[in-house]
Amino acid sequence: MTKYDYLIVGTGLFGATFAYEAAKRGKRVKVIEKRDHIAGNIYTKEQDGIQVHQYGAHIFHTSDKDIWDYIQQFAEFNRYTNSPVANYKGELYNLPFNMNTFNKLWGVTTPAEAKATIDAQKKAANIGDHTPKNLEEQAISLIGTDIYTKLIKGYTEKQWGQKATDLPAFIIRRLPVRYTFDNNYFNDTYQGIPIGGYTQIVEKMLDNDLIDVETGVDFFDNKAQYIKDYPRIIFTGMIDQFFDYQLGELQYRSLRFETSEVDVDNYQGNAVINYTDAETPYTRVIEHKHFEFGKGQKDKTIVTREYPATWKRGDEPYYPINNKQNNDLYTQYRKLAESEPTVLFGGRLGMYRYYDMHQVIHAALTAVDTEFK
Ligand code: FAD
Ligand code: UDP
Repeated sequence: MTKYDYLIVGTGLFGATFAYEAAKRGKRVKVIEKRDHIAGNIYTKEQDGIQVHQYGAHIFHTSDKDIWDYIQQFAEFNRYTNSPVANYKGELYNLPFNMNTFNKLWGVTTPAEAKATIDAQKKAANIGDHTPKNLEEQAISLIGTDIYTKLIKGYTEKQWGQKATDLPAFIIRRLPVRYTFDNNYFNDTYQGIPIGGYTQIVEKMLDNDLIDVETGVDFFDNKAQYIKDYPRIIFTGMIDQFFDYQLGELQYRSLRFETSEVDVDNYQGNAVINYTDAETPYTRVIEHKHFEFGKGQKDKTIVTREYPATWKRGDEPYYPINNKQNNDLYTQYRKLAESEPTVLFGGRLGMYRYYDMHQVIHAALTAVDTEFK
């Protein structure tokens, strides 16, 4: 048996939030993490005075004041506003889709002209008035065929490795469509990046005498023993792997990050540039110093290319693919989870949901409320 009340598997935002809240309530917590560092996919590391987002650009955004107040306990945030730019075969367009994008594409200068252009394209595409059945129909019904062709189709199909007609509509509804000259990628009330990076947030959450953390430890190397020894387990890895894929594999999308140091002060003039054509093998190029307004060395910058990749067992599962088939299979795994009453499944992988950071914190705090009510 063990002296701990909880075993938490994974040091991402879900596991760390749960650990912090449990320790606050006097519980003894053991945390294991299979990577050689804490913080999951929000991990950032300083290089040349620049906070490098090791697993892709992370911008915190929420409209929930409680979540915003909660995260600020662990870091001070800057005023960063995400305004990625799309590069389609050398043509640059502002994102999300807004009056700047429409003006560059069609020369229109008023919202009425932009609406008329989009409506005419929708009509010509003949997609009908029914609820969009897939991402392609959803995109065309929101912003017409030109933007779909230049800024969405190529990016989406390489990002997900599937045809846009086979992908769920909700993915594209994440992006705002605006008839104003506003390049803010998010509609949320609060937005920013922690000054000094994200890792400090998880460090502070786990900094408690009641919490012991071990990195480089994989739950599956000792699963049966952990289940026997610990009265309660919070598991934030893949739910299908937990059950040895016995009902079949859920699908995930993986990524490969290629990071390099470039000997210039300013490489691309923006933190995020999306490459929206089908041929460029990467989706985004991130220049990390712009997340902190150019802070860092003057003649050096750090750039990461993000390549989408097929997922197979053993690869990092960055995105759940929430189409109907996978969601149905996940429902079956949820039923199976009832046979493991001592285990709580949480986070992007444990709950198989395309969650952003604020949603993960919300899910963790909801789980905490239920746990300690
Ligand atoms: P994770 O961070 O994945 O943590 C799970 C942890 O569990 C990992 O550290 C993993 O190594 C560990 N683990 C798994 N299995 C085991 C095991 N068997 N044994 C031990 N440890 C295990 N969100 C935003 O809000 N804004 C953004 O701009 C944004 N950008 C993103 C960009 C990319 C490329 C990606 C992939 C995600 C982005 N997100 C963003 C989402 C954000 O990363 C997640 O919402 C959040 O990190 C999920 O936290 P988590 O704890 O659920 O999972
Ligand atoms: N998307 C696109 N073109 C872009 C940016 C996004 O078509 O330039 C689509 C794509 O399908 C993507 C989805 O919108 O998967 C959501 O984009 P977001 O930037 O929210 O993706 P994430 O940061 O989660 O990878």
